[in-house]
Amino acid sequence: MRGGAPAPSGDDVDGAAARLSFRERTLAKPQSTIPVHALDDQRVHLAPPHHGRLAQGRLKTLCGKLAVTALPLFSPAGGNRCKACFARVDVDGFVKLGA
Ligand SMILES: [Zn+2]
Repeated sequence: MRGGAPAPSGDDVDGAAARLSFRERTLAKPQSTIPVHALDDQRVHLAPPHHGRLAQGRLKTLCGKLAVTALPLFSPAGGNRCKACFARVDVDGFVKLGA
């Protein structure tokens, strides 16, 4: 619970952002992922959200395959998901910590 902190305004915004980023560092914010197709594989895999690397053909999925095409975030997976990739994230697509 955060309590009733007043909304920051004006000069206080920078200070709030600094505190937030420090808090995020100390809490090891979970890594988000994007759904992708891998080379020679029709299943849906997950990869870190590095679209630049994906465009260069250098992005690896969580299970170590080469990612070739990013999928829409809410594309129908059809139950055809890579178990290795999806076992490593929570229901929101964030990589589990300490799992
Ligand atoms: Zn996979």
